[in-house]
Amino acid sequence: MLTDTITCSPQDGFGTLNLIKPIHRAVREEEYTLPTPIQKQAVPHLLQGRDLLGCAQTGTGKTAAFALPILQRLAENPQVPDSKSVRALVLTPTRELAVQISESFKVYGRYLKLNQTVIYGGVRPKPQIHSLKRGVDILVATPGRLLDLLNQRCLRLDKIDMFVLDEADRMLDMGFLPDIKKIYSMVPKSRQSILFSATLPDEILRLTRDFLNDPVKITVNPPASTVEKIEQRVLFVDRENKGALLESVLQDESIERALIFARTKHGANKIVKNLNKVRVKADAIHGNKSQPARMEALKKFREGKVRVLVATDIASRGLDVEGITHVINFELPNEVESYVHRIGRTARAGAAGMALSFCDAGERGYLKNIERTINRVVKVVDDHPYHSQTVASKGKNRNGAGGKVFGNRKAKNNNFTSRPAERTRKPSGRKNHPAAKQGKIVRLRRRPSKS
Ligand code: AMP
Repeated sequence: MLTDTITCSPQDGFGTLNLIKPIHRAVREEEYTLPTPIQKQAVPHLLQGRDLLGCAQTGTGKTAAFALPILQRLAENPQVPDSKSVRALVLTPTRELAVQISESFKVYGRYLKLNQTVIYGGVRPKPQIHSLKRGVDILVATPGRLLDLLNQRCLRLDKIDMFVLDEADRMLDMGFLPDIKKIYSMVPKSRQSILFSATLPDEILRLTRDFLNDPVKITVNPPASTVEKIEQRVLFVDRENKGALLESVLQDESIERALIFARTKHGANKIVKNLNKVRVKADAIHGNKSQPARMEALKKFREGKVRVLVATDIASRGLDVEGITHVINFELPNEVESYVHRIGRTARAGAAGMALSFCDAGERGYLKNIERTINRVVKVVDDHPYHSQTVASKGKNRNGAGGKVFGNRKAKNNNFTSRPAERTRKPSGRKNHPAAKQGKIVRLRRRPSKS
């Protein structure tokens, strides 16, 4: 039987969690040496069958925190699922997250004989219906498609032993509360329930009262640990110069893989179009794109076939792509939490990362809120040709210029790193420059010295 219950050496970090060998082996092969704080605290309670309220964001290792005990409990109690039934259900707000969580279950459960499937909207339901026919041990789903398939009687929830609500606050923001309530009214009362949320507003606390039974409460503080590793910089720029600033910034070869955040879908498309014009390989991921197009864009980005992925907040929530060297906020978000989530896409799994935020006059207030909440002043880079002193001087008592952030420049005559701000030539004429109209990068050189 694969579910060998011999546990592993306690000296090993994961050995303290009493995981069964097949799971421990899978985790070791992932090169996880120590459990993260949420894993350390959550796994023992979840293995005992307790309900849990986890206040944790993506990047903390929360997926493994619930996936490992779910796998273990299912494996220790092997059953052939009834037709169309599900033993463990994970609800998550977006398709990308659903796929990611399902992949994690596959990885951690690869030495177990458990079957699982993932369902989400935007694709043909037929293959999903087919995969549910024989019943599954683990189902990862987005609420809309789950309800559709329930209404069509393609699955049943009366055999659920474990129920996870992931990113609960985001689900509420996205208007999923009625769907969630409908779904959990169909799930047996005796289940084990787990709720993860990055924040705990009143609405979530109300939800937890119905959803959880005497839960263990665990809060981990990812921003501090994750965000500390991220170098954060702000570049003050007039709104109309943001596109040109982006092109210039991307000339830096040290920006190997950049995730750019745009406020709107239209804005994201426009950025991609402009970057493609100047031969920067870029693609977009947002809610207007079909599911196959989103998956394709993500795949190309993961494989390094496109260097830049432009995303909106919802599409990118929880995205886990290795090796994102830079997150660029083309627009600053008005919610601090989104800022923390966005920049957390870099510096994953112990790597370093940099977050650059383009801030125009209308976004100074957002920056102020962000700095107040993360309890640090974001360093300013004023050493770029589009620096706006007007935007900069809207905020007082900031720390000094951060100076250089870009290294290993391909274009020597791009003066990001070398030109002092006071010598910066005004880029006002750039938009009308003929080369700019043809989509070429204009390199603004320092005016030759007359001496
Ligand atoms: P999550 O917060 O679940 O999205 O996980 C964030 C990233 O951390 C994923 O890439 C995981 O593979 C990775 N991860 C999870 N647990 C550990 C661990 N104990 N050690 C190292 N990396 C981990």
